Amino acid sequence: MQINESPRERLTPVQFRLLLQAAFTLFNIYVGIRFAAFLSWALGKSEVFVAKPGAVEGFLPISALLGLRQWLSTAEWDPVHPAGLTIFLAIVTMAFLFRKGFCAYICPVGFISNLIDRAGRRLKLSRVPRPWADYPLTGIKYLGVGFFSYTVFISMDLRSVQSFLTGPYNMVADAKMMAFFTDPSTTSLIVVTAIVLLSLVIRNAWCRYLCPYGALLGLFSWLSPTAVTRDEERCIGCGKCTKGCPGAIKVEEKKIVRSPECIGCMECVGHCPVDDCLTVKAAGRFRVHWLTVGICSVAVLLLFWGWAKLTGHWDSEMPPFMFKRMYSMFLGAV
Ligand code: SF4
Ligand code: SF4
Ligand code: SF4
Repeated sequence: MQINESPRERLTPVQFRLLLQAAFTLFNIYVGIRFAAFLSWALGKSEVFVAKPGAVEGFLPISALLGLRQWLSTAEWDPVHPAGLTIFLAIVTMAFLFRKGFCAYICPVGFISNLIDRAGRRLKLSRVPRPWADYPLTGIKYLGVGFFSYTVFISMDLRSVQSFLTGPYNMVADAKMMAFFTDPSTTSLIVVTAIVLLSLVIRNAWCRYLCPYGALLGLFSWLSPTAVTRDEERCIGCGKCTKGCPGAIKVEEKKIVRSPECIGCMECVGHCPVDDCLTVKAAGRFRVHWLTVGICSVAVLLLFWGWAKLTGHWDSEMPPFMFKRMYSMFLGAV
């Protein structure tokens, strides 16, 4: 058995994750700037027309869930926010195949959460709650996903779903979301500040305890054939894997990490000092490189995007002047 005191690879899982997260966050900022320009035109503040970027609809998961309900019931794709449904299905597919790759590498909120978590650990403020508190707290986000799923798939009838999807609230939802970032209310600022402070003292508080989107992806990732596996013969029980895990999963006690809390970030693999002790396997048998999870997650997103562009499942069927009218009617103050 070989124990490594120095890094084995030029690119570590931590660096790779931060690089991808930073790249996607920059891309989201670019999308936000383009959407702001579209909004400016739509609200008559600018003469310059900039096409609405479809990627902005990735910030509308509830609209996408309703779009999914309509698609499953009628085979009709959401005509208002088609890219939102495409992105949602790409992310779910990603979770099913490659764990919560969206959370680990792509979600900009996850990136901020990751940075706050690292700051909390560096400042020695970050703590992992004891199991008696951790388990019930983890359940909060599953209550959230249960609530949304019940509302969308059971409580609402198809006609209500379709009315919502084509209604003014949904049409302007992306602009409302933009306003949350560019012109937050006092309540929003207080809530965000509280979450940031909480995340400094409790490891990854938002993602681990509160985000229903992450909870939904966790349920799909639980079925994923891709998982970190531990070679019990090689393991020296040093605990570095558990210490480095953003989900505080007790990796050193597992043979295969199947937890829905595992986002597939590969930080445990990077922290393990023993060669080939922690590896990534598909279907429990076929070893794959740790880079596979991140690269394939991005590939899934790009494949869905390419398919949607080619088949008309990306750009909204609503003409820009229709958005212009809706924004002017319902968002004069944005
Ligand atoms: S848990 Fe939610 S906020 Fe966190 S990375 Fe996943 S989707 Fe993003
Ligand atoms: S178990 Fe490993 S791959 Fe899963 S979240 Fe923890 S560190 Fe990341
Ligand atoms: S699997 Fe975890 S406990 Fe075992 S050697 Fe690797 S880092 Fe240490």
